[in-house]
Amino acid sequence: MAPRKQVQVQSPDVEYGEEAILARVQYETALCQRDGDAVVVTPKRRRLEVRTVRRPHRVGAMLVGWGGNNGTTLTAALLANRAGLRWETREGERRADWLGSLTQSATLKLGMDAEGRDVWVPLNTMVPMVDPDDLEVDGWDISGLNLEDAARRNRVLDVEVQRALAAQLRELKPRPAAFNAAFVAANQQERADNLLAGTTAQQLQRLREDIRDFKQRKALDMVVVVWTANTERFSEVRPGLNDTADNLLAAIDRGDAEVSSSTLYAVASVLEGCTFINGSPQNTFVPGCVELAQRHGTHIVGDDLKTGQTKLKSVLVDFLVGAGIKPTSIVSYNHLGNNDGRNLSAPHTFQSKEISKRNVVDDVVESNSLLYAPGEHPDHVVVIKYVPYVGDSKRAMDEYTSELLFGGRHTLAIHNTCEDSLLAAPLLLDLVVLAEFCSRVSFRAHGSQEDFVPFHSVLGLLSYLVKAPLVPKDTPVVNSLFRQRACIENVLRACVGLAPDSNLLLEHKLS
Ligand code: NAD
Repeated sequence: MAPRKQVQVQSPDVEYGEEAILARVQYETALCQRDGDAVVVTPKRRRLEVRTVRRPHRVGAMLVGWGGNNGTTLTAALLANRAGLRWETREGERRADWLGSLTQSATLKLGMDAEGRDVWVPLNTMVPMVDPDDLEVDGWDISGLNLEDAARRNRVLDVEVQRALAAQLRELKPRPAAFNAAFVAANQQERADNLLAGTTAQQLQRLREDIRDFKQRKALDMVVVVWTANTERFSEVRPGLNDTADNLLAAIDRGDAEVSSSTLYAVASVLEGCTFINGSPQNTFVPGCVELAQRHGTHIVGDDLKTGQTKLKSVLVDFLVGAGIKPTSIVSYNHLGNNDGRNLSAPHTFQSKEISKRNVVDDVVESNSLLYAPGEHPDHVVVIKYVPYVGDSKRAMDEYTSELLFGGRHTLAIHNTCEDSLLAAPLLLDLVVLAEFCSRVSFRAHGSQEDFVPFHSVLGLLSYLVKAPLVPKDTPVVNSLFRQRACIENVLRACVGLAPDSNLLLEHKLS
């Protein structure tokens, strides 16, 4: 794909330096104090400087679970787009694209032209971002199948696409994996033929060496590690095990069985200075792991990719509650027939998924005290069943029942069918692209001589892409999809000295 032209802002508040874009912006918030029923608000204004390094890192993604549905689909999409692949389908010719990717296929409203018409630009033209064509990929899997065979097993990609990419996919073979079988369904053991030997501490060293090896072979200056392997059960969190960084490292050293594989990969990544993204629901980021990331100043992002049902839920419930309608019951049924579904058929892994799917409406419900009394909550049930025949084509059926005026009932029934991995792969790309972008942005108070401060280790900015956003301790979780997207847009705007879009459009509203 030809590189897109970058947006250029002409303003005394922006300097496009050789190395970095330096922007000055006003950050406005409102400090609210409750006094009984009354609320007293004090507007707060701060001038900030935002610094964005212009040159993206030469970045590589290491996928844990590379041979899985998401891993093979993302890899095939990268190869297909790089080659500008075209193939025949029964509906005619199709060309590789990045539909479903926020960074590659979505736009934001930049402003208005002289005639008062909205001007929209691709998100990735606001500031320089990694081009997917330049992204290197590598990874681990407990199954030693090369990616050609893995893609055939996964039954996601069109046969024509598999054929066109076969030679390249065949060359890609996952590295041996660290595997704690107690954390996933017993049925996953059948594919586990590509495992690291040795103690947990030795496995940690091997994972670290793998990261260094990939970095060196591909001459990379940044590696992002993404967990897109099976959903694990939650690990116990207890003092002495994983409550602090030192206790977690000690638990790894003594080979404690309660250290999950995902936490082990996360620790290896942090110790190698890599960003780690958790694409599954389990509590990979136990307190000790979060502390370790903070200690090393690396970024972590979690948890669980937000693809279909949850994305829609975070939009619908936001809309209903925002409209003053009261959702009282939300019931979500899923069935799917891929390996993810097979793994989720065990109660302990299902529970992780259930928790990550269930919490998504909490902040929206809490936002409206006119509808819900303190502690009141809609009934919210999530069911997931494994049905092999439907393969990766997941079915999600949701029923939302709400209360209306005069005790009326409002029921929405939604049926959602699509290949799960085709939704997930663009999200994985976005997570890597945006995580890399975040590593180049820093802030300080205007006029300060202090060093610029990067984003917090827990990268809450990427909440838009994950089901159960991990945020820094004692900070609020935002689930509303619109607010999450607006946050990304507004950070991009701030990087080039633009105020958040107020949507006032007074130009069109005054007489
Ligand atoms: P998958 O089962 O096809 O792939 C997972 C891969 O991980 C498998 O190839 C497996 O062999 C490998 N694996 C398991 N344990 C491993 C370990 N310790 N080290 C290395 N590899 C390991 O599943 P998928 O459909 O690709 O989904 C991957 C994850 O993403 C799942 O946890 C799923 O819940 C999550 N997720 C997927 C979606 C989606 O829409 N596809 C959405 C949200 C979350």
